[in-house]
Amino acid sequence: MARVALVTGGSRGIGAAISCALAASGCRVAASYAGNSDAARRFHEETGIPVFQWDVSSFEACAAGVRDVEAKLGPIDILVNNAGIVRDSTLHRMTRAQWDAVLRTDLDSLFNMCRPLIEGMRAQKFGRIINISSINGQKGQLGQTNYAAAKAAELGFTRALALESARFGITVNAICPGYINTGMLAAVPADVMQKAILPQIPVGRLGQPEEIARAVVFLAADEAGFITGSTLSINGGQYMC
Ligand code: NDP
Repeated sequence: MARVALVTGGSRGIGAAISCALAASGCRVAASYAGNSDAARRFHEETGIPVFQWDVSSFEACAAGVRDVEAKLGPIDILVNNAGIVRDSTLHRMTRAQWDAVLRTDLDSLFNMCRPLIEGMRAQKFGRIINISSINGQKGQLGQTNYAAAKAAELGFTRALALESARFGITVNAICPGYINTGMLAAVPADVMQKAILPQIPVGRLGQPEEIARAVVFLAADEAGFITGSTLSINGGQYMC
C-alpha cells in the first residue's frame, strides 16, 4: 500500500522538489500552499499532484486542511513541514509584525501541523515527520533574529517529539539546508550573492532543491526507522557541527 505524504509549501521551491521526489518514490502526495494560486495550479498541471490551500500559521486551518487531505488521500503517514518565510531586518529595525510573521509561519506551523496528525500516527504505529529547518538556525545570520530563532527552535521541537514518538514507530528528523536556489533567495541582491554568500560555500555553488528532496525521501522510507531526532546538514560544506 502506497504511503500518503503531505508536504507543506509543497507547490514551489524546495517543497515542490520534495513533493515530486516523494511521488517518484511511490507515495501518494498532497502539497499545500499559502496563496500563490497560479504557481500551485501550474504545479498541479505539470505533476498531477493535488494541491490544497491553507495558512500553516493558523491552527484551525491546519486541522481543517489535514481533515481535507485525509478525506481525499487517506491517513497521512509522512509529514514534511517545509513551508517557511523570511522577513529580514536587523533587530534594531525589526517590527513586531516581522517577528510575529516568521515565528507564526516557521515555528508555530510545526505545532499546528503535528498536533492534528500525531494521534493518528501513534494509533497506526507509523509516522515520518521531517522538519525543514535552516543553516541559519544552526549558526545565526545577520538580519535574521526572527528566522534564526524559529529555525533553531525547530531543532528542539524535532528532538523532543522524536523522544515522545519513538516507541510508536514514528520518527522525527530535521534537515538544515544551506543556500538553495529557490525564490526565497530572490530578495538577496546579486552583489551580496557574489561577494558575500558564494565565497562562503566550499563547493562553490548554491544547492538545488532536488538535493534536499532526495534526503527527505531517504528519511521518509520505511527502512529509515532507526533514524530519529537527527539533524541532517545539507549545505555544501558551509557549516559543520
Ligand atoms: P519558497 O519561498 O520558494 O516557497 C515557500 C513555500 O511555502 C510556498 O509553497 C509557499 O506557498 C509556502 N508557504 C509560505 N508561507 C506559508 C503559509 N503561511 N502557509 C502555507 N504555506 C506557506 O521557499 P523555499 O523553497 O526556498 O524554502 C522552503 C523551506 O526551506 C522553508 O522552510 C525555508 O525556510 C527553508 N530553507 C530554505 C533555504 C533556501 O536557501 N531557499 C535555505 C534553508 C532553509 P505560496 O506558493 O502560496 O506562497
